[in-house]
Amino acid sequence: MNKIQIGLLILALILAPYTNAVSVGTGQSLEEHKIVKHLNDQYPEAMRLLEKSVNINSGTMNFAGVKAVGMLYKKQFEDIGLTTQWVDGATFNRSGHLLAEYAGNGPKILMIGHLDTVFAQDDEFQKFRPIDERYVAGPGITDMKGGNVIIIEVLRALKAAGTLENLNIKVVMTGDEESSGRPLSQSKAAIIDAAKWADIALGFEDGDSNIKTAVVARRGSVNWKLDVSGRAAHSSQIFSDEVGYGAIFEAARILNEFRTQLAGKGELTFNPGLIAGGTETNLQAKTSTATAFGKNNIVAKDLIVQGGIRALTQEELDNAKTVMYNIVSQNLLHTNATLQIGDGYPPMAPTPGNYQLLELYSQASMSLGYGTVEAVNPRNAGAADISFAASHVEMALDGLGLMGSGGHTKDEVADMDSFRKNMHKAAVLMHRLSVAHEDH
Ligand SMILES: [Zn+2]
Repeated sequence: MNKIQIGLLILALILAPYTNAVSVGTGQSLEEHKIVKHLNDQYPEAMRLLEKSVNINSGTMNFAGVKAVGMLYKKQFEDIGLTTQWVDGATFNRSGHLLAEYAGNGPKILMIGHLDTVFAQDDEFQKFRPIDERYVAGPGITDMKGGNVIIIEVLRALKAAGTLENLNIKVVMTGDEESSGRPLSQSKAAIIDAAKWADIALGFEDGDSNIKTAVVARRGSVNWKLDVSGRAAHSSQIFSDEVGYGAIFEAARILNEFRTQLAGKGELTFNPGLIAGGTETNLQAKTSTATAFGKNNIVAKDLIVQGGIRALTQEELDNAKTVMYNIVSQNLLHTNATLQIGDGYPPMAPTPGNYQLLELYSQASMSLGYGTVEAVNPRNAGAADISFAASHVEMALDGLGLMGSGGHTKDEVADMDSFRKNMHKAAVLMHRLSVAHEDH
């Protein structure tokens, strides 16, 4: 589909969400009613699949565990009728990614999940454990094995209803979301390629773990490193034409200028997190540790700073980089500074397309009787793989997964009420996207 076709599709959906459907009184069409019933009938199986996948440890660096979760889901996709592929992660030092595909006739939708969790093989938090009727504890249950199972069950229900024929689906479940393999050009290739193919990207992360919100925008996050040098000399000669100002005064100038020129601008934040300076410095990047040796009577020769930047749009990030490079280039006498800004998560910008998709999702939620869905404050939306996809599609939305609390801690607990509801919502949304296509 091209831009204009996608625009028409969305317009048709927003103006008349279910004109060609027979209403059954709740705002759902007959077909949607069937899809929801299928999901409800399948629910006990979905719970079992979730339990099984949570009980397989898949900490990012447990390559065998990540692959085992991938193989469990691979079988499910194949049973539904998708073709699958395991992409080995050796070139980026991770386990790999699971891809699944269904070639129907309709809009191209990318569904995003991840197989890995933050819980290593030796972590004491390993098992699925129901707390009561509504809540279940488990490592990675909301982040994001619940979302993965939602993807599978939604596709199963859409297949049973005949809707899948009117959609083109690619699923990418990465094995390194919690700790990206390097180089990023290798580890993110699968998701970027699928996004270039897709019109629409749907992420099934837990967002800010509020069922009333979804993610239309999220800040990008990259790291930077500043190296500063000065002329070592006796401190009695500092400020002279021969010695100049030294590395520490130069670094102080740079950091202060970063703050005065950039702090409080838009959604941009940046933070120097580590600094060491003196006669000699030493940085261990792996442990993020720095040491320095210096004396009060010697002008500082060497200094390093490490920090991060977060920005909401690529433009905001690019502007910040320009300002920072400019500040770094205007060195005090006999000092030198170099700034390296690394790669990381690109921003997921709040585009009109993303808001239109949110509107459709909210309408689906309302017709199911679950109320409206609103946009998450981008500051509360953590990094996720959809950021690598968002700039390549017309519309992107994340936070469609299983909600709960305590993600990335031993207190991770899922609210299973959201498991059922978010399956229903995603299935109805995707059904409507397929129906709108049929109409044109
Ligand atoms: Zn996640």
